[in-house]
Amino acid sequence: MHIYDIAVIGAGPVGMFATFYAGLRSADVVLLEGTAQVGGQPAALYPQKKIYDVAGMPEISGQELVATLAKQMARFSPEVRLSTKVTAINEQDDYLELTTAGASIYARSVVLATGAGAFAPRPLAVPYDHNLDGDRVLYTISDLSKLAGARVAIAGGGDSAIDWALALEPIAGQVDLIHRRNQFRGLESSVNQLTHSHVHLHTPNLIASVTADDQGLELDLRPVRGEEHDHLQADYLLVSYGFASDNKQLRAWNIDLTHNQVSVDRQLATSRAHVYAIGDAVTYPGKLKLIASGFGEAPTAIDSIMTDLYPDRRAPLHSSSMIH
Ligand SMILES: Cc1cc2nc3c(=O)[nH]c(=O)nc-3n(C[C@H](O)[C@H](O)[C@H](O)COP(=O)(O)OP(=O)(O)OC[C@H]3O[C@@H](n4cnc5c(N)ncnc54)[C@H](O)[C@@H]3O)c2cc1C
Repeated sequence: MHIYDIAVIGAGPVGMFATFYAGLRSADVVLLEGTAQVGGQPAALYPQKKIYDVAGMPEISGQELVATLAKQMARFSPEVRLSTKVTAINEQDDYLELTTAGASIYARSVVLATGAGAFAPRPLAVPYDHNLDGDRVLYTISDLSKLAGARVAIAGGGDSAIDWALALEPIAGQVDLIHRRNQFRGLESSVNQLTHSHVHLHTPNLIASVTADDQGLELDLRPVRGEEHDHLQADYLLVSYGFASDNKQLRAWNIDLTHNQVSVDRQLATSRAHVYAIGDAVTYPGKLKLIASGFGEAPTAIDSIMTDLYPDRRAPLHSSSMIH
């Protein structure tokens, strides 16, 4: 039976950086991710959106950030287990047993980097053939160029929907944005850009039905008030209604929570011995749910764990002294 020094739960940007940092400190580390891919929110929810507030990166897309983190993490070849959702954490003699759908995983300490919890995009709430999901009905786009020249309808009125519309405008053949209000809930500059773009706005409209044939999709649009239906042809429908996260799991883990966020002390330790938490999952006074903040929390948590596990092992503070 192998007992890791550290099991990091959640391969979002913060869990990935924590795994790298554990490698830097020569920890025996495993990274566990419930979904089939690394990258958390940036990979799943906004791969093409630009991020401007990660230190040292003037401008980077969600997807590029995740690729960079994967490269950084690969330096120490950590073990990464995808599609491995942790459902329980139980104390054994002097280690913790993590329950997954497959085999149990054993570790002397755990770092929760579970973000907003297991997340999923909010679904389109009209009956339609779900075989179209991932084919003609999309919830995210990993490669914009695949939609070159296509007719793309986007459902939603928030930042993400506007970002997708603006990103697709120069690439797609036609972009239609369907929103149930006249006002959009995006950054003022983005909304301005949208109203001056070639994106066709359908507001205030609801999608009443979606059907598919050889020609593509037909969307039945209904005004929020009124009876007249409108029909819109599209090759793809991108549903951008935000996402719902489920961190109910945390409540079963016997960890102190504040408003469903994990309460941590200055060392990022939770109320459970040998269980630490970082990133969007945690709360403390002044906490900001930003990638940069989570990156800052990772070294503190890993250092606390290593000091606890190996009190006699001293490591230099600077990475330049650790990697030759
Ligand atoms: C549209 C949008 C735009 C954003 N733009 C910015 C921005 O410009 N700048 C910025 O700093 N931040 C931005 N953010 C916020 C940023 O994405 C988050 O702060 C960041 O992703 C938090 O990283 P994390 O690793 O803590 O969590 P997450 O990215 O949420 O990753 C958590 C991971 O843990 C996994 N997981 C959860 N539970 C389990 C379990 N039980 N077992 C195994 N795995 C599990 C999840 O599947 C997920 O992969 C944005 C967020 C959104 C939604």
